[in-house]
Amino acid sequence: MYHCWRNNEPITKKNESKEHIIPNALCGKRKPKTLLCDTCNNELHFLDRRLSEDLDFILANLSCKRDSGSAPPIIAVSSDGTEYKMKNGKAKLKDPVFPDSPTVAYVDGKKTEIYNIVARSLDEAHAMVEGLKKKYPDKDFVVEMKKIEVYLDSLNTNSIILSDESFRAIAKIAVNFYMWKVGKKGNIEGAIDYVNGLSKEEIVGIYYNEEAKNLKDCEIAHILYIKGDKEEKILYCYVSLFGAIDFIVLLNDDYNDENYEELYSLNVETRHEDITRFELSLTNTQIKEIINDELPIEDLKRGLGKTNRIIEAKNVLNAVADIITEHIANNNLDTIAKLINEWDNIKSKIDSYPHLATLHCPYQVEVRTQPKLKCDCGLDQTVYMLVSLNISGTVFLQIQIYCNMCGKIFSSHEVKEHITS
Ligand SMILES: [Zn+2]
Ligand SMILES: [Zn+2]
Repeated sequence: MYHCWRNNEPITKKNESKEHIIPNALCGKRKPKTLLCDTCNNELHFLDRRLSEDLDFILANLSCKRDSGSAPPIIAVSSDGTEYKMKNGKAKLKDPVFPDSPTVAYVDGKKTEIYNIVARSLDEAHAMVEGLKKKYPDKDFVVEMKKIEVYLDSLNTNSIILSDESFRAIAKIAVNFYMWKVGKKGNIEGAIDYVNGLSKEEIVGIYYNEEAKNLKDCEIAHILYIKGDKEEKILYCYVSLFGAIDFIVLLNDDYNDENYEELYSLNVETRHEDITRFELSLTNTQIKEIINDELPIEDLKRGLGKTNRIIEAKNVLNAVADIITEHIANNNLDTIAKLINEWDNIKSKIDSYPHLATLHCPYQVEVRTQPKLKCDCGLDQTVYMLVSLNISGTVFLQIQIYCNMCGKIFSSHEVKEHITS
């Protein structure tokens, strides 16, 4: 029989509820039914919500999986001052642009008024053009449309504010993790009081330790690590969110139980829980310093900066992948040839992000397509196309078109020949 760690109610089929160890809003995965009764789960939910609001600028730039809903959009500003809505790692213009007056130019020696309209979708563009025609029924319009790709500059990380509720939400993650793995409520009563708002004594501090995390270059992961140290008489939990913001939660400073350690990790993109190496050993005095010190702004910026660079790199790659997918969506070789021709263009865009090359992010998109390509083996239907982008020192695009039947790989030279013949 399990009991709710908040109000001690026995957990039954009637009042059981799934409590995410790491909040669902932060893309958490594990959600045991053995931690909180449904009443307490609901009553503490505002802490999780507050934490995800405080971290919205990270969440809006990621497309990690959640059980329900996606992170709300945030407004980001590019270097030219244009406002964008960021959501699930994608940037969209916040408002359409409709000029008050046209610019005047001479086209083929003829005085021409040019209205530069920027819309957020093709439908919106059409509607705006129709609006313009209605407004000036006497004018002749020539409409030219083109799709613009958006790459945002670095995100603004200067203004991070963590509320008291967010610190309680961090302590709740630590309490959940301990209760899930060990379940000895008697060892963490003080921390539970803190989560419940009954104790004002600070038990959470920000702690940045790049070495301990040991994350791969492109990894965005949550890490939880509990340590019980009976010599130091402390039980504490390290909580790292998105590899960007790290906390120490002091669960007990008069710990008399056994030495203990437990590690949990979650890659928010792959959903793998496979980090096995982690080392951290803090003394009672060190932990007290971490908790009582002023907010280490520089450390905070360093951690956020690194995660932002990873997110930004991935967003650029995703945008490139979208372009590639679009180019080959029509299932014919003409578009693939266009893509090959366009590659230099795409590459120069990637190259304009110098720090992309300092990360090691193998990135692969596999697309099935059906170009009308006749293979020697007789198959002229399905061929697979593998597009990989590889970022490690240099960026290169590899397009492989291979026969589904015999495995023959067509060279891009062969593909081009097919198109021209
Ligand atoms: Zn309860
Ligand atoms: Zn074949």
